Amino acid sequence: MSNTQQQKPGFNCPECGSFIQTNIELILSGKIYCSSCGLELTPQLDQQDKEALKKMDDANQKLRDIKRDQN
Ligand SMILES: [Zn+2]
Repeated sequence: MSNTQQQKPGFNCPECGSFIQTNIELILSGKIYCSSCGLELTPQLDQQDKEALKKMDDANQKLRDIKRDQN
């Protein structure tokens, strides 16, 4: 495996086509805005998706804490 390309989380705006970068906090907040045209998007997540995202967020924060402790 040599694919080290970083994938930014996000998707293309259905209105203007520009890339909308998202993060877990934004998705969980339930409101995402396109910075280009101002379109408001509501992520359609069921409870299972939200739980999975929260677990990912927890894991990320733990990793951050570990890194902070080592510095
Ligand atoms: Zn847009």
